Amino acid sequence: MSFSSDCKEELCRVPCDKACCRLSELSALYMTLGTLSLLGQGRLSVQFAVESPAIARRIFVLMQKQAQIVAQLHYVTYARFGGRRKCVLTVGPKQAPAFLLLLGMMEVGEDGTPTLHSTVPRVKLNRDCDRRAFLRGALLGCGTLNDPNHGYHLELTVREDSLRLYIAKCLQSLNIPVKYTQRRGVTSLYCKQSDQIADILTAAGAFTAVTRLESLRVKRQVLGTVNRAMNCDNANLRKQMDASQRQFALISRLAASDHFSAMPPALQQIAQARLQSPDMTLEELGQTFTPPIGKSGVNHRMRRLMRFASEELEGETTHPGTDAAPPAGL
Ligand SMILES: [Zn+2]
Repeated sequence: MSFSSDCKEELCRVPCDKACCRLSELSALYMTLGTLSLLGQGRLSVQFAVESPAIARRIFVLMQKQAQIVAQLHYVTYARFGGRRKCVLTVGPKQAPAFLLLLGMMEVGEDGTPTLHSTVPRVKLNRDCDRRAFLRGALLGCGTLNDPNHGYHLELTVREDSLRLYIAKCLQSLNIPVKYTQRRGVTSLYCKQSDQIADILTAAGAFTAVTRLESLRVKRQVLGTVNRAMNCDNANLRKQMDASQRQFALISRLAASDHFSAMPPALQQIAQARLQSPDMTLEELGQTFTPPIGKSGVNHRMRRLMRFASEELEGETTHPGTDAAPPAGL
């Protein structure tokens, strides 16, 4: 299963015990997934067509608990979409008016004439719990979430301007910044920051998804640190090898000249050691001596040797080669 469907399944299991929260979530589900049908002679029906059986079950249970409305469930297979099957929940003419009245999407005037509202949710989201429940319903109804292994992206695709504004307000009141994008004429709310996506999922109650998101973020952070450390090591190694090569080249020229034998024995020793082991670090070079010489001792001798070589090989301009990071003060 995808991260998005895992996350939705989890949202479907979030306890929703308070009537105010059930109403808010149902309202968002109706606004994003519901269809109102006029059957003639004033009769109405409401349908929810969803691919996920978990979401169908969620809507069924919320309606039953909130208003003892029992929706009829059946399955429809769409031949056009490769035989994709959808669960269809229908609230028939007997109970549809009660359902719409409950959500405030229908009002009955003093003379008994019903008025239907279709675009703006009528539930009041004054409490934090209700804003969270509304957000949960909106995520279930029109949310998509990328697999975080392939980049962070949460999107709520909302065709209705007024509904989009309502969801945006809901997010803003939970201190979650809102961004908009437009694709094929449809505007969506989206979020690409992992911490903000985690905030949205936390608000809606998908804590397992947040944990998965968080552990992946930590893993990426650790990998980034390791890579940086490795790059740094590689850079040091390169500097060290360049220095060794410069030393080797200069000492080879010195060895071919008369100056070599004029050098103090300590410098001759280090020069010979470098000629024998062009790839060793100064520290390793120091270990080939009897008795061994420490890194700073070798470094000091190599600097003296390089200075001597530069001065003696007249007309040569060269940089005294040392280890990548010589000890301070040498
Ligand atoms: Zn509530």
